[in-house]
Amino acid sequence: MRLILLGPPGAGKGTQAARLVEKHGIPQLSTGDMLRAAVKAGTPVGLQAKSVMDAGGLVSDEIVVGIIADRISEADAKAGFILDGFPRTVAQAEALDAMLAERGMMLRAIVELKVDESALLSRIENRARETVAAGGTVRADDNPAAFEKRLVAYREQTAPVSDYYAGRGVLKTIDGMAPVDAVSEALDAALAR
Ligand code: ADP
Repeated sequence: MRLILLGPPGAGKGTQAARLVEKHGIPQLSTGDMLRAAVKAGTPVGLQAKSVMDAGGLVSDEIVVGIIADRISEADAKAGFILDGFPRTVAQAEALDAMLAERGMMLRAIVELKVDESALLSRIENRARETVAAGGTVRADDNPAAFEKRLVAYREQTAPVSDYYAGRGVLKTIDGMAPVDAVSEALDAALAR
């Protein structure tokens, strides 16, 4: 099963993706996680991406498309994958279409988690508090200024990705404001339909 999860920062894509990994035994491909790993490892990509990410902007299409093209070719992604945080621009969606066609791969579903923007900042602040309580390190972009920029990037560059798929009649939308278990159920139902 190949699936795309769409939705603004803080919508719950990561939480739902982790559940789907358990349920279906396919990997979650999060470009955000992969970029953070590259930053931590100090790779050339990481060095290039760090300042943009910290400020809440988008890393170049070229970089993330390259990362995903490599990642979906790996052995563990053969049976399927969950894309989380990619595609984030229409150009990325077009590049994804091309790489899937090249590999003879089809998507099962593109699912968007719809949430009220007003709820997002408090979700991010909660995540930061929980991370601190658990002894972890808060993401450099989980602060109000960077978050505001992430929302702007979402509105201007990522919301059109939903339109891109909706226009082709392949977008399923679910309510991301419901409790986590209810969202999981809605997601399962969307995947079954
Ligand atoms: P969020 O919780 O905001 O959805 P992610 O963990 O998915 O955050 O991504 C964190 C940051 O990594 C983004 O703000 C952006 O700088 C960068 N990033 C992740 N995925 C992409 C992408 N597909 N295109 C461009 N930049 C990306």
